[in-house]
This record gives sequence, C-alpha cells and structure tokens, in this order.
Amino acid sequence: MARKVPGKNEFNEMLRYFRVSLERLKVAVHLKTRADAEDLAARVRSGEFDEVVIATGVIPREPEIKGLDHPKVVSYLDVLANGVPVGNKVAIIGAGGIGFDVAEYLVGSAEESLKPKVFMDAWGVDTAIRSAGGLKAPAQHGTERVIHMFQRKPESLGKNLGKSTGWILKAKLRKAGVAMTAGASYQAVDDQGLHYSVNGEARVLDADTVILCAGQLSNRTLFDGLAERGVKPYVIGGADVAAELDALRAIDQATRLAVSF
Ligand SMILES: Cc1cc2nc3c(=O)[nH]c(=O)nc-3n(C[C@H](O)[C@H](O)[C@H](O)COP(=O)(O)OP(=O)(O)OC[C@H]3O[C@@H](n4cnc5c(N)ncnc54)[C@H](O)[C@@H]3O)c2cc1C
Repeated sequence: MARKVPGKNEFNEMLRYFRVSLERLKVAVHLKTRADAEDLAARVRSGEFDEVVIATGVIPREPEIKGLDHPKVVSYLDVLANGVPVGNKVAIIGAGGIGFDVAEYLVGSAEESLKPKVFMDAWGVDTAIRSAGGLKAPAQHGTERVIHMFQRKPESLGKNLGKSTGWILKAKLRKAGVAMTAGASYQAVDDQGLHYSVNGEARVLDADTVILCAGQLSNRTLFDGLAERGVKPYVIGGADVAAELDALRAIDQATRLAVSF
C-alpha cells in the first residue's frame, strides 16, 4: 500500500531487497496462503516447527459513526489495496500518516517525484532563470477532486508528520485545494454526506466517498487462536503494537528476535 503513494517509491526497493534476500537464503515462501491456528498448532505439536512468529500486521479501526454500512463508506485498505472507485467529493476521516498518504494518493502524481521537469513545474521553479528569483507560477493542479480531511483533535492537522517533510506534504495538499478541519465530532454518514460538528455547530459535507483512516488495531486472530491451543508464539510488528506508520520498528523487532534464536 505504501509504495502506491506518490513519493514513497523507495518502498519498491525495500520489497525488492527482501524478495532477493529470501530467494538467496532459500526461505520457503507460501504466497496466497492463509495460515490457520488449528493447522499451525498441529504442526508445532508434530515437531515440524520449533517456534512460530506472528507478523500478521493490523486491521483498520472502525470509528463509532452511524451509517458506516452506507455504500459511500470505504476504508484506506479498499482504496489503496483493493482499488475501489473513489468519487470526486471525498471526506477523509482521520489525519494521521495514513490519512495524509490517502489524500496524496488521490491528488498527487507519481511523476512529480520521479520526473525533474514535472517537479519543477509543479513547484514553480524556472530552470531557465528568466524570471526574478528563478520562480514562476506553479502549474495548476489537474484534479477535479475536492477533498476534505478531518480529525478529532483540536490542533492543526499533520502535527506528527516528519519535521523535514511534513510541511511539504501539507503545502502540496493545500495547493490541490484540500480542506482540513480539526476538532470534528462525527455523527453519521447518509445519502446527504458526512454529518459532523465543530465547536457544537452541526454541519453536513456533501461527499460521495467517505474514507476511514481512523487508526489501526493489531491483528491478533492467529496469535489468540494459537494461544487457545496451548502454543505460545512470538509476536512482532503491527500485530504487536498497532502504532502509526512504523516499518522501521517492525523490522528492528523482527531482526532482534531472529538473532536471539
Ligand atoms: C498506506 C501506508 C503507508 C505507510 N507508510 C509508511 C512509511 O512511510 N514509513 C513507515 O515506516 N511505515 C509506513 N507504513 C507502515 C508499515 O507498512 C507497517 O508499519 C509495516 O508494514 C508493519 O509490518 P508488519 O510486518 O507488522 O505487517 P504488514 O506489513 O501489514 O504485514 C502483515 C501481513 O500478514 C498477512 N497476514 C495476516 N493474517 C495472515 C494469516 N492468517 N496468514 C497469512 N498471512 C496473514 C497480511 O496479509 C500481511 O501481508 C505504511 C502503511 C500504510 C498502510
């Protein structure tokens, strides 16, 4: 999912690194195979596996809002992983790293981070230096999409984004006309759109897609299933702590566990 976000192309390289390493180290990888607690416990009991490490990641958290079963409500997983269609009037609920990534995915262009000319035009850099300061009018944003981001906390959105890059992302989204509302309480989603209030004042946003980016919960189904069967697995990554975007922590934890065996 992360590698689909414009500017996060380096995730492709990370995946390539792991693909090559697993092949080189002859690790048996079973893709499209859902591990099941009953089967795994039996294989541990039969001595096929000495240890089990659970790295099942996270599941999106569902906030408490009426009407989440409305067809216009989707999760970030639906958008980034399953490619569900997104309308032109979008509400993004939750403004953590994933909320910002989804906004950028919807308005951004991968070309801007890959092609110097597109980058210079988007940010108004006159490489011919014909104008004062080498600046020209930035290229107009091409999207018709109107995006509105919401967060519950009454503080400016994106406070926890990276210090050296967060302001760039926010500037980019503002340039694309993305509206940001803090201190929102959500009431319901229905045919009219998203019903919410700010400082006690009720409002409705006419939205045709409402994307939930309201945090994650550890996916412990397999861990719990094994524990119930008397197998005590290790648990790492998002399955251990469903914190904000933190592949570094997951990889660090995995590496330390592996060298401890
Ligand atoms: C849009 C997005 C952007 C992100 N950007 C960043 C970033 O910029 N920087 C950063 O550090 N982190 C980022 N992250 C977070 C990072 O991807 C996670 O922290 C990291 O992937 C956690 O690794 P993990 O191994 O715990 O879980 P995951 O990478 O989520 O892997 C869990 C895997 O387990 C599989 N699984 C679950 N149950 C079973 C089962 N029963 N049998 C078999 N397989 C199963 C799942 O299908 C999944 O493939 C981003 C995440 C998202 C969604």
